[in-house]
Amino acid sequence: MAPADVPAGAGVHGAAVSIRGVGKTFRRRGQATRALSGVDLDIAPGELVSLLGPSGCGKSTLLRAVGGLVDVDTGTITVDGQTPDAARGRKRFGLVPQAPALVPWRTVEDNVTFLTTLHRHGGGTPMPPGEVDQLVSSVGLDPFRKAYPHELSGGLQQRVSLVRGFALGAPVLLMDEPFAALDEITRADARYLLLDLWSRTGATVVFVTHSIAEAVILSDRVVVMAARPGRVAAVERIDLPRPRTPDLEDDPRFHDHVRRLRADLAASHS
Ligand code: ADP
Repeated sequence: MAPADVPAGAGVHGAAVSIRGVGKTFRRRGQATRALSGVDLDIAPGELVSLLGPSGCGKSTLLRAVGGLVDVDTGTITVDGQTPDAARGRKRFGLVPQAPALVPWRTVEDNVTFLTTLHRHGGGTPMPPGEVDQLVSSVGLDPFRKAYPHELSGGLQQRVSLVRGFALGAPVLLMDEPFAALDEITRADARYLLLDLWSRTGATVVFVTHSIAEAVILSDRVVVMAARPGRVAAVERIDLPRPRTPDLEDDPRFHDHVRRLRADLAASHS
């Protein structure tokens, strides 16, 4: 990697996200599930915030509601003052899902660039091709530019997916457990890769995870969620210095955060 060779992205302006009193109940076959209740959260432009909690506590629902993919029943969400629907229409979001969702018949290079082209035609402002090119190189994908997704390991596929997300130049990136399917070593690398990409672009990132260590190493703040109904149980600011490096995982402050979040999670279940 040669991070120093890459310019500070397309000068993406991260959007502010405001979530006020948000509630959502799913109804299916006569059964009601309160996926979210009374959720309040403000996310600053360029902030990296993780939503942490056990399965079923509403993390994905909240992420999707921010992205205008789920309509909420109560409360409001705004993205730079716009409704999520309007923001989505103006290509303000990039989504990095759990499965990389690459197009199988396109090369690595094409997988990254064709979405940025679509985005541009749809009114978005993706990074210029030269910058996308440098981003691809910076994450070590040069040897794989002409490869097809099935020729890549899961870790490399997710790298392509991450670069593609950032290359869209969207002010808000929504990431739904993007590293969940990776083995622990690949996953650890992916975290620092994400941080590197994020630090160059200025995008706001909302990151869903159920890994405490991952949330601590990545985030400015960690939002602990509890289930039934899905709600915010605690918010922890992570005061570890940036840029974050793997040796921070030996730092007592890292372990303090992990301990506190573990306690928050336990308290939210009791
Ligand atoms: P998490 O991401 O924390 O695992 P989710 O947001 O996926 O949680 O789900 C929260 C709750 O809402 C769960 O009980 C889940 O079963 C329910 N739920 C999510 N999506 C739907 C849906 N489309 N229809 C019915 N129930 C849903």
